[in-house]
Amino acid sequence: MNSTRPSRARSVTLDPAKPGAPPHLQAVPCAFFLDVDGTLLPLSAHPREVHVPSPLLEILKSLRDRSFGALALVSGRSLAALDACFTPERFALAGQHGAERRDAAGELHVDCAHTGALGEIRPLVLELASGIPGSFIEDKKLSIAIHIRDAPGALAGLHERLAEVLCAYPALGLLKGKAVLEIRARLAEKGRALRAFLEETPFRGRLPVCLGDDVTDESAFETVNRAGGVSIKVGAGLSCARFRLTSPAKAVSWLARQTRTQDGS
Ligand SMILES: [Mg+2]
Repeated sequence: MNSTRPSRARSVTLDPAKPGAPPHLQAVPCAFFLDVDGTLLPLSAHPREVHVPSPLLEILKSLRDRSFGALALVSGRSLAALDACFTPERFALAGQHGAERRDAAGELHVDCAHTGALGEIRPLVLELASGIPGSFIEDKKLSIAIHIRDAPGALAGLHERLAEVLCAYPALGLLKGKAVLEIRARLAEKGRALRAFLEETPFRGRLPVCLGDDVTDESAFETVNRAGGVSIKVGAGLSCARFRLTSPAKAVSWLARQTRTQDGS
């Protein structure tokens, strides 16, 4: 793999016979940005329950190598949790919605500016979540996620209460995902992480391709759309993504096909 090989971004041709389906990326040098939960893998009841099947790992390795290293996983999970899922591989990563990032050269970029504010509100968040049966906290240090997959009826009330708390902390923001609320630095969003990657080798100059399933992926889709790239919403729901695939299985299948076209073009 030669990660320094220069390349040029090119446009893609849409297939008018398949509206909504992403295009085939033949002979287009691409940079791949992939959400994990709900995109590459079905959503699980608990973040620790996920298992990355060997065929998926092989597809990601192949896509990374054939695109000269231009593949990053972009997730709400922490870098440590992502590495644990995809071991022994170490991909370029954006974790906690971009609050922490590992570039393709392995260098870490971590925004610790708001850990003090998070520490101040952490006890109150724990107290609020403890009153919701079936909920659990995922404390990722740079962000706090409250999972309420077993208590979906509690989402609106908890969101309202947390929004009140965060009024006193304008640098922090509340992300509402699928059965999860996350408190993190307001500037930590996936679109920002993608822009940072796109300024670096080997992503720079390639056509950005982004797959995601949740509202937390919308900022990444916006970034990709502005660059003329390929944004793909996985599953149902409103989105600014230009294309759609109906399930993680379809998303993985589509990515597998692209491994045959990213052959050093
Ligand atoms: Mg997701």
